[in-house]
Amino acid sequence: MANLLGSGLITILVGLGWSAAFIHFDRPVLAALNADLVVFGITLVWFAYQGRLAAAASLAGHLLPFFIAVACLFDTVPVGVYRATHLHFLAVALGGYFVFRDGSVYMKYVMPACCLIGFVVFSNTSISFHDPKLVIPASAAEIGAWTNTLIAMGELIFIVVIMNADLSVRRTMDVEMRKAIANGDFQLHYQPQINEAGRVVGAEVLIRWRHAKMGNVPPVKFIPLAEETGLIVPIGNWVLRSACAQLAQWEAQQHTQHLTMAVNVSASQFRQPDFVQTVSEIIRLSGVTPSKLKLELTESMFIDNVDATVAKMIALKAIGISWSLDDFGTGYSSLSVLNRFPLGQIKIDKSFVRDMLTNARNMVVTQAIIELAGKLNLQVIAEGVETREQLNRLREVGCLNYQGYFFSPPLDIDAFGTFLSLAPSKSKTFS
Ligand code: C2E
Ligand code: CA
Ligand code: CA
Repeated sequence: MANLLGSGLITILVGLGWSAAFIHFDRPVLAALNADLVVFGITLVWFAYQGRLAAAASLAGHLLPFFIAVACLFDTVPVGVYRATHLHFLAVALGGYFVFRDGSVYMKYVMPACCLIGFVVFSNTSISFHDPKLVIPASAAEIGAWTNTLIAMGELIFIVVIMNADLSVRRTMDVEMRKAIANGDFQLHYQPQINEAGRVVGAEVLIRWRHAKMGNVPPVKFIPLAEETGLIVPIGNWVLRSACAQLAQWEAQQHTQHLTMAVNVSASQFRQPDFVQTVSEIIRLSGVTPSKLKLELTESMFIDNVDATVAKMIALKAIGISWSLDDFGTGYSSLSVLNRFPLGQIKIDKSFVRDMLTNARNMVVTQAIIELAGKLNLQVIAEGVETREQLNRLREVGCLNYQGYFFSPPLDIDAFGTFLSLAPSKSKTFS
């Protein structure tokens, strides 16, 4: 967020500065080009302000190198003065690599590589326009070169400072997560899963971290970091052990013995060579019926090592565990995945559910997914159900299992017990 806002502000300031200078030097075309930079900077700040960080980052990653390349073409300097506009390529390459470090190969490597190629080309050639109306006047060229160099250095310093701050936040989070594991500070919440009759059939277990100073740290803030550092393995095993202990308690009581438990499994946890043994051992020690346990995977895990993935899934399916495909519809290989992997359930992603009433195409896709799943004998559950309208629409198209705030947010175990005792709240949720 900070680096996108910063990039946007720097872009606006640079655009404004150069536009004013070119108006002063009677170069209207150049002033207009720099005004575009201002518009682009404002768009970037607006997107970042609205929290549309991915869109802002993608826009910046594509347009900044383009703007710099165009600006280089207008950077014609008199003999004795050096070009400097291409120095901005260095800042964009470094910033792009940093912003997209967890992104696709294209954004992480190809975009910075293009910037570095641009830097090398414009450093070693003098390709540029020579029309006097389109170039900076000789009298201002030297000031322009110095200004550009200083701004580019400023950009590099800004990026290094942000990278450093990010590193120290990560280090702190890592230390705090280790402490939380040692002190048992993580908790589990349970979000009810409801069937078409309005009955609670199970729960998805979701980790919670209440930190004394940082407050509630959402899983999206610490799970990806735990994945990077490998801490997800002890955390994930703790979640599974605790979830199985809870499942064993449910199994011991008549009114809860039908409940299933869905547990999220992260990619690096799944990739552990001893994953199958670890899970089997946890289940054996807890004494739960394995068929009550559902492990949730995401599509991204199905891209590499297909054979090893299928083998692990089959091994755990053999002892009774079932597999659910989380966030279905957000990946790329959706349909082929359904056929190739031994899944028992797919979870329609909340983005589909959210948009289904306003986006007709989305509705068609959701309906097709449900029909296909039916033909493949897969159970379908919709997550992120927030309104009665969404529920009704899902029922109409044949989706018979639901999870979402409309029924209940994730609850601590006491509140979950209360929710169960009040259920079936058929009259409230199903009319
Ligand atoms: P997820 O597996 O897709 O979990 C569903 C998320 O949607 C949860 O966020 C849940 O609180 C939220 N949610 C539930 N109902 C609604 C709704 O009606 N509307 C909206 N907008 N959201 C809803 P949460 O708990 O913040 O978890 C976020 C993600 O963190 C999870 O996404 C999962 O990927 C990960 N996560 C959570 N707990 C664990 C865990 O124990 N292990 C692993 N590996 N990942 C976990
Ligand atoms: Ca999940
Ligand atoms: Ca999900």
